[in-house]
Amino acid sequence: MSEEKPICSAKGCRTEAVWVLLWNNPKLHTPERRKTWLACEEHREHLSQFLGVRGFLKDVVSFAAWEAEGDADSGH
Ligand SMILES: [Zn+2]
Repeated sequence: MSEEKPICSAKGCRTEAVWVLLWNNPKLHTPERRKTWLACEEHREHLSQFLGVRGFLKDVVSFAAWEAEGDADSGH
């Protein structure tokens, strides 16, 4: 399989992502559930503000750290 580069989740942005935003919408998700958005350097603030004002944002970590931790939804 090919090694895919993570791409920023911001609309229209195709820059490689270097940040992972961990968030949770309490109306839709159980408290321990974490949704993830990827963000490039430029959009990290925009995306975290979007989630932050809604009270959804839980954590922001670098993509490298997040990948190393390896406990995303799917796990393995
Ligand atoms: Zn971006």
